[in-house]
Amino acid sequence: MQQRFHRRVQDCVMAAATPHRRPPPPLLDRACALFLDVDGTLLEFASRPDLVALPHGALETLGRISDRLDGAVALVSGRPLRELDALFAPLRLPAAGLHGQQFRGVDAPDERTADDDALFTLRREASLLVERHPGIVVEDKGANLALHWRAAPEAEVALRALAERHLPQLTGYRLQPGDHVIELVPAGVDKGRAVLTLMAEPPFAGRTPVFVGDDLTDEFGFAAADAAGGWSVLVGTREPSCARYALRDPSAVHHWLRRNAAREQGHA
Ligand SMILES: [Mg+2]
Repeated sequence: MQQRFHRRVQDCVMAAATPHRRPPPPLLDRACALFLDVDGTLLEFASRPDLVALPHGALETLGRISDRLDGAVALVSGRPLRELDALFAPLRLPAAGLHGQQFRGVDAPDERTADDDALFTLRREASLLVERHPGIVVEDKGANLALHWRAAPEAEVALRALAERHLPQLTGYRLQPGDHVIELVPAGVDKGRAVLTLMAEPPFAGRTPVFVGDDLTDEFGFAAADAAGGWSVLVGTREPSCARYALRDPSAVHHWLRRNAAREQGHA
């Protein structure tokens, strides 16, 4: 089932291989459920994942949209839930962390984290590379390990090779490439499945899913939203992508969210 889903996403991305202009998404209606990636979508990238901040007023905007959609607004991120909570406090939205390995639903608080022993050797070797390339960030997320080279572009080849060399020993893991990062993620976990899991429960069940994200990992979310008759919204111009709509960058996402919040107020 997992393999079939991955193949479908791959086919979908390849079918969209010709770059094309995507229109901005329409405004949300009350039947929508909104799924938001975080880094590169709500947050601009920084040289380190811990050096980011939400723009002024963004929490209030998200809170207003969440109220209007009866709570059907969720964060779907590669970050662990505890980091999401720190970034969005005091707002505590339903969320899928670690690409869908951790969940917090509105009515079913539930966090699951897998065993991380298998990553020990890789973590140690990655630390040795940091000594040679101080800009590398080895982000230990428990069961996931993300290797970032945004501040050390010369280390990309070495980090990719390291991850690929260790993958065969990491039973049950897959590589998740991203923007200046490669991550080892337990197989069977992706943002599409995260969307499906959240959509199975109130207040998401029965709504039209709208997934907004920027990176390769978000293609799974796009495919899940489209398969459920929803909308897929790419942030940026990355190609190929199976998204049907696009917003230019995180500031365009916030502008679109503010327009939604204003409209919600006008039609309350
Ligand atoms: Mg992202």
